[in-house]
Amino acid sequence: MGTRIGFYGGTFDPPHMGHTAAAAAFAAAVRPDRLYIIPNYLPPLKDGRVPAPAADRLAMAALAFPGCTVCDFELKSGGVSYTYKTAEYLHRLHPDGALFMLIGTDQLLQLDRWRNPAGLLRAVNVCVALRRSGEDGRAAAKAEALRRDFGAVVRFIPYEPVEVSSTEVREALRAGRTHPLLDGAVADYIREKGLYR
Ligand code: ATP
Repeated sequence: MGTRIGFYGGTFDPPHMGHTAAAAAFAAAVRPDRLYIIPNYLPPLKDGRVPAPAADRLAMAALAFPGCTVCDFELKSGGVSYTYKTAEYLHRLHPDGALFMLIGTDQLLQLDRWRNPAGLLRAVNVCVALRRSGEDGRAAAKAEALRRDFGAVVRFIPYEPVEVSSTEVREALRAGRTHPLLDGAVADYIREKGLYR
């Protein structure tokens, strides 16, 4: 069997325990030889909010995902980050590797709005973590549509949803509180740098 390459992209602004729990569940289910964590520079489908500086998000990802390979490909490329280009990059790094991409349900549900979904879905196996219980019906229907329309390989990984978003974490921090689902080392980093005030 060839190498198995896992990757998990996101804004990670900041990374929280939903991200790390999903990554752990993904690692347990897929057993990748390498797991790349890839912070994006500008997410295409978010509302124009400017994320924390790239260097800080990279540093927080390194603290939140020990044992993973934090990759600055999208941050170095700049501009809007398109996952199909990241998949091409990983394929150049690992020509014999099979690519496994982790996403949450919100991203699955809008995957055909991503740039070049056909190219991306030919290149990767999609692994989905359900972010909230009760989303499974819509998510299963969407997975079926992607299989039918693109020949996508989509599976759901066993994951007990940890219901948290970076938005919630930023709101707590802005209100002067911390958040229980923020990793301690990440919380310390945020405090030292004065982020999200
Ligand atoms: P924001 O609130 O700023 O929109 P977010 O919490 O959704 O951020 P992202 O960095 O945008 O976090 O997410 C990166 C990836 O992680 C996406 O595929 C998303 O679906 C997934 N994800 C985010 N939060 C969770 C969670 N709690 N459980 C499982 N997957 C998650």
